[in-house]
Amino acid sequence: MDRQRKYLVDFAQRAEGLDDYNRLKLILFATGTKPATYVQLKINPRNIEEKQHFEKHLKAGRIPFLVSRPKAYEEIIAIKGNAIKWKIMGTWYGYDLFAGDKSFRLFQKYQNLIKKQKHTQADRISGRLYDYPQCCVEHYIKEHNLAFLRKNYTHFSYYQHLHAVERAFPLVMHTPCSTKCKATRKLNSKYAKALKKYAPKFWKQLSSAKKFRTDVVISSESELLQDVVYNITSTAPVFPVKEGHEYNLITTKPIEGHYYMISYLTKKSIEKGTVLPAAIKKKFDYADIKLGKPKKVIRDLHHERKFVIP
Ligand SMILES: [Zn+2]
Repeated sequence: MDRQRKYLVDFAQRAEGLDDYNRLKLILFATGTKPATYVQLKINPRNIEEKQHFEKHLKAGRIPFLVSRPKAYEEIIAIKGNAIKWKIMGTWYGYDLFAGDKSFRLFQKYQNLIKKQKHTQADRISGRLYDYPQCCVEHYIKEHNLAFLRKNYTHFSYYQHLHAVERAFPLVMHTPCSTKCKATRKLNSKYAKALKKYAPKFWKQLSSAKKFRTDVVISSESELLQDVVYNITSTAPVFPVKEGHEYNLITTKPIEGHYYMISYLTKKSIEKGTVLPAAIKKKFDYADIKLGKPKKVIRDLHHERKFVIP
């Protein structure tokens, strides 16, 4: 690894504007483990120099990249009464990074196909661009078909599949075709190896379980809508019958400075706004949760946010 790439790995581990998922992606890219990636960098008054710093290293390393226009980002700052209050904290930039001209050209091809609504071809190109296993890409394409979804999943088993593959292969960026996918297993091990070698401190922090207890509130419920399917614009649910639920929980107090949003899969039905004690075990990008008995229900729980035009 050359000096510039070492600087990038350093930057990935230290930058305040990157969360763990984006640190992971940048480290895998900078070490040459991944041929292309997309990284989001958040800029606020405390880390204003990081954008310039990041781009300086990209240019010095002769890394082809594209940067988006600035967009506002917000965070939850309080839960008061029945309002979840959001505040705009700063701006973020999206970076598409490429190992070389070949991956940059694949990206341009991908974008052209998207513009022409040729989703299947675009997905295959993005699989090559980001080094996703072919079996998973083909499975992903099939899952953009309403009949395939309804034949192979129920509402609950769809989310169960997502939770299972995330836990089986926490380092990969694609949706694996199954928990038994050999190509994904190989990729996940390759990524773990690179992290242990080039960013051991980050690896230790990322792979260790963090346990905490806090109250959580049921804020919303996931629903797979038909517009996930290519060429369907309807927002009707794919699975009208729900025999289980994926709820989105929010911690009622900040944990290490942030209100966490966590998904929770259950066969039970819980009313929106219900507050429950939770034992949370967080690892990689997921959390296993045990809920206690409901404490109360916040009626008309809603989000209060100020939108700005990006
Ligand atoms: Zn696969």
